[in-house]
Amino acid sequence: MTTSGAPAPASPPIRASEALQKKLAKIGLHSEADLLVHLPLRYEDETCITPVNRSFGNEPVQIEVVVQSNEIQFRPRRQMIVRAADESGEITLRFFSFYPNQQAALSEGSRIRAFGEVRGGFFGAEMVHPRFRKAGDDEPLPAELTPIYPTTAGLANSALQKLIGKALAVGDLSETLPEDLRQRLKLPGLARSLRFLHTPPPGTDLDTLHARNHPAWRRVKFDEVLAQQLSLRRAYLARREQGAPVLVARDDLGARLLDSLPFGLTGAQVRAMAEIGGDLAQPYPMQRLLQGDVGAGKTIVAALAACQAISAGWQAAFMAPTEILAEQHYLKLKDWLEPLGVKVAWLSGSLKTKAKREQLAATAAEAQLVVGTHALIQDGVDFARLGLAIVDEQHRFGVAQRLALRKKGDNPHQLMMSATPIPRTLAMSYYADLDVTVLDELPPGRTPIKTRLVADNRRDDVVGFVRKAVEEGRQAYWVCPLIEESEVLQLQTAQETYDFLFEQFSGLTVGLVHGRLKADEKQAVMAAFAAGEIDVLVATTVIEVGVDVPNASLMVIEHAERFGLSQLHQLRGRVGRGQYESSCVLIYAGPLGEVARQRLKIIFENTDGFEIARQDLQIRGPGEFVGARQSGVPLLRYADLEMDADLVEMARNVAEEMLTEHLDLAERHLKRWLGSREELLRS
Ligand code: ADP
Ligand code: MG
Repeated sequence: MTTSGAPAPASPPIRASEALQKKLAKIGLHSEADLLVHLPLRYEDETCITPVNRSFGNEPVQIEVVVQSNEIQFRPRRQMIVRAADESGEITLRFFSFYPNQQAALSEGSRIRAFGEVRGGFFGAEMVHPRFRKAGDDEPLPAELTPIYPTTAGLANSALQKLIGKALAVGDLSETLPEDLRQRLKLPGLARSLRFLHTPPPGTDLDTLHARNHPAWRRVKFDEVLAQQLSLRRAYLARREQGAPVLVARDDLGARLLDSLPFGLTGAQVRAMAEIGGDLAQPYPMQRLLQGDVGAGKTIVAALAACQAISAGWQAAFMAPTEILAEQHYLKLKDWLEPLGVKVAWLSGSLKTKAKREQLAATAAEAQLVVGTHALIQDGVDFARLGLAIVDEQHRFGVAQRLALRKKGDNPHQLMMSATPIPRTLAMSYYADLDVTVLDELPPGRTPIKTRLVADNRRDDVVGFVRKAVEEGRQAYWVCPLIEESEVLQLQTAQETYDFLFEQFSGLTVGLVHGRLKADEKQAVMAAFAAGEIDVLVATTVIEVGVDVPNASLMVIEHAERFGLSQLHQLRGRVGRGQYESSCVLIYAGPLGEVARQRLKIIFENTDGFEIARQDLQIRGPGEFVGARQSGVPLLRYADLEMDADLVEMARNVAEEMLTEHLDLAERHLKRWLGSREELLRS
């Protein structure tokens, strides 16, 4: 932290029995402040009672009935069947799981209020698993809607409601937004908003509450997003306090690399290089994410960054998630840089003998650029002067692995690359502690990839497409069905696909590559494919990332409906890398489920990875994108990145302002929203 405000006092712990505290802790409730921001999932209207004979309908209702009988049945499955009635009629309450105390509460003669949806069952009106409680003869109805809180087994909603009610009465509801800011943002006060959401006044419209666009909800969501932004922003500033080598080029290595290329940089690449080059020359560590759709040309940008480090007298490391990809990078970088006198070394996990590894580790100490897999971060690999750590396909690595690479040097600069385009709001939200550069332009001369959807029973057509491509001198990938459940089955399927195609394509050379091959076997196959010695490469998703064979113009994906969207997009991106017209054939097996149909439609209609990612986010939520990042980054409980995108933008700016001008408010805000979880973030 740059400036130190007085640490905000911790919120008092919840006063409750030890047993209750344990249950509360399970759902993250430790302090009074936690209770205050534990908001209802939804509300139920228990302000009135509906007679049983008028209770049918889609809306849940409250009835008040007297229990007439209570019996446990064992067939067809264990259940408690309670028959009850009011003056207007009879109803059955059915429970498939219940505690003894619930059974006791529902004994004959008890008067209860039950809340739920009423359906017509075999015995007439029926409620399945209603929420219920005992009712006194003339107990008044609540005047307010009942908030229903997220909870855990054995923790009753009413208990939570009581605790939260107490916290509302005595707890700290003080404002943490500066008043002028709050007014500028047109947000209601915090105390008012929390009271409203925990205890909405009678007559509040249920639909607005449930839709979560009421101003009170917006206020809470804003505060939540703001806490996240503050936290990430603070981590960002803290990093700036650390020193890093100033990497200023001392010769024209970068320029010579550019001169030797058969192409010129795109505008986006030039801009990216300017940003990265500027960062590297700073005395604090860069932490920049270079995002670009598949084929956008991230590798050359990384190579130029490495040149800057090398010509400043430092080493660069380039880590990739798979052997195949790492080796491709190695070969390409060697090709580019060795003629310019740069020492490039290769380090991979498959290097067997200890002696061999040691020798390579020694090379790592001397080489100017070291390329490899996670072997780079093993013990015994020591860099003499690591100035820049480059991580390709960064989302494939965990936080710990990226950290380990950083530890190989003394705060080296970090360049992370990703072809999984992260939608803007998500990037702003979960990656706010990184600087982000986007390559938003593909190199010129690429022919757009044509995508076809073909039903399973038209496979013969696809075989025809492949033959044609090969006759024209091109090559094809044939990606096997994904079988996530079993690696053995996956392997078997790959082998079967290979056998089938081997027969179909007599006269052509067919190769097979899958994850179970030894690393050197994999590389041999890939090298043969790259050299044009294999016409059709049958592959599992091992070829998903980064592989670059410009002569390959056709990508066939079997059982495309089983793949995720970003996976399909990545796979498709393996073609269209040269000047040839390329296409991607998605073979699907019907009947398709709704989500699968939607996915295939998206990939069929879109070529822009960002647009695909945005739509994917809508279908699936952020989990997948955030991936390895998740640990350490507070997930949002209330805000929705799609729906509340504007709040994320607002919060980002406000966070900056608060950290410079209202540090004590920022501290209190963080305490309230993140509490003890904040510590996690900083570790
Ligand atoms: P990705 O961003 O997916 O990692 P690569 O760096 O592998 O993309 O680049 C894809 C292909 O485009 C490579 O063959 C690369 O040499 C080529 N390339 C990169 N930049 C340009 C450019 N400005 N003009 C033409 N080709 C380029
Ligand atoms: Mg790449």
